[in-house]
Amino acid sequence: MFKEMSIAGAEAPVFIRLGAGAKDMTGMRFGRLIVLGPVARGWNNVLWLYRCDCGAFGRTATGNFRRARSCGCLRTERIVKSSLKHGHARAGAATTTYRSWEAMRARCECQTHQKFEYYGGRGIKVCPSWRENFAAFLADMGPRPPGTTLDRIDNDKDYEPGNCRWADRITQRHNRRDSGEARHV
Ligand SMILES: [Zn+2]
Repeated sequence: MFKEMSIAGAEAPVFIRLGAGAKDMTGMRFGRLIVLGPVARGWNNVLWLYRCDCGAFGRTATGNFRRARSCGCLRTERIVKSSLKHGHARAGAATTTYRSWEAMRARCECQTHQKFEYYGGRGIKVCPSWRENFAAFLADMGPRPPGTTLDRIDNDKDYEPGNCRWADRITQRHNRRDSGEARHV
């Protein structure tokens, strides 16, 4: 199985030394995955830490890189795209919805994000089911309509079902009139 593991910013991974004869795959790329280094060693096998282009971290054994091309996000995107196609929705919507989901997580969890102080910095969180699962976010919110961005109805509440909507700029500006919060995507 190909499991995901999230790494908190403060928590540095501990790499192990490879035994003689074990091939060092550090720095190699497999699809969206970049091997960061070996983290555990078993009988005739090594467990590697990887980073996916989508930002996720994970660990997997050597042999899995032969068939894995992403942390799982590639598969999710394909499913979303094909379900949108069958629903006669715009093909581009999957990508923009996914970008909104990534940006929402970055605002709340990435301390180096330009606008972190307005989001994660003041305690705004992404609810656990959305945080872990793009498909859950898509199921609750639907695909992002063109010309809209993700908006929270109550600026002091989290990103969670019931407090979020796709809103155009005019609606958002109206909502933000008495707030210093910056507009976002
Ligand atoms: Zn990924």
